[in-house]
Amino acid sequence: QWVQLKPVAEESLQAFTTLAPEMQFQSQIPEEMQVLFDPYRLKQVLKILLDNAVKYANASLVEIVARQELAKTLIEVRDNGVGIPLEDQPQLFDRFYRVDKSRSRELGGAGLGLSIARTLVERQGGVLWLASTPGSGTVFTIELPNTKVPGGIKGA
Ligand code: ATP
Repeated sequence: QWVQLKPVAEESLQAFTTLAPEMQFQSQIPEEMQVLFDPYRLKQVLKILLDNAVKYANASLVEIVARQELAKTLIEVRDNGVGIPLEDQPQLFDRFYRVDKSRSRELGGAGLGLSIARTLVERQGGVLWLASTPGSGTVFTIELPNTKVPGGIKGA
């Protein structure tokens, strides 16, 4: 199902502005951008990523930035927070994995959010990955293929 990304992303961000009024929430999304994603699942994924950024990153700014390339669509959830230590990054999408810091211990949570988010993205044919620099922030990227034409276009 094709959905218009901007209103969905902005609605997701909106919910957090009241939860964390001290933080800044922004988006940079082309007006007409459409993505092939079940809208309910897309909201679920964004909620997980935004929730994590608000809970763990100790960030002042959280942004959703999206762009379309020739073959793929990229939706990034960025924060300018504490980042994720390099040694924890490979396991982060594992079920029940949490970065062993007092901050995430205090905040409860089972360590399931990111594994659920990855599964939902993969069901849409996409991939979810992260890039993080300890001390400067984290970017989670939802990467979706633009088209599904088996075998490509004949004669192209
Ligand atoms: P649950 O989602 O079950 O409530 P959780 O939020 O701990 O628990 P995940 O969403 O899988 O589980 O996140 C795993 C861990 O990754 C978190 O506990 C946190 O330590 C770390 N983490 C996730 N996002 C960020 C972020 N943006 N900045 C810093 N650390 C993060």
